[in-house]
Order: sequence, then structure tokens, then C-alpha cells
Amino acid sequence: MRCPCGCGQPVELPLIREARPRWSLQVDKDGHPSLEPSVWRRGGCRAHYFVRRGKVVWV
Ligand SMILES: [Zn+2]
Repeated sequence: MRCPCGCGQPVELPLIREARPRWSLQVDKDGHPSLEPSVWRRGGCRAHYFVRRGKVVWV
């Protein structure tokens, strides 16, 4: 996905079980994704946010 802060950088989140760190993705019955844990970009814009039910929640 693209970083939601507007910087336009791609954000890659490993979802496979073997990856460290990894994220879990859950999609509710309406198709809204939630991610755990939060996303914190170490470089670039340093955006830090949760994705909950399809919405970005800034930290
Ligand atoms: Zn950004």
C-alpha cells in the first residue's frame, strides 16, 4: 500500500508467518482491513499509525 501520510512512498508489510517483524491482517465482514501492530516507518516520513477497520488512526 502507499503511505497514508501523503508522502507517496510504498509501504511493504510482511504478512507471512515466518517474517520478523510481521503484521497480522484481519478483514471484517464488510471488507474493512485491520492491521496489528501499528505501522511505524523508520525512514522517510516516519509516519506511525494503526489501520483499524479500513481507517488510518494516527499515533
Ligand atoms: Zn509517509
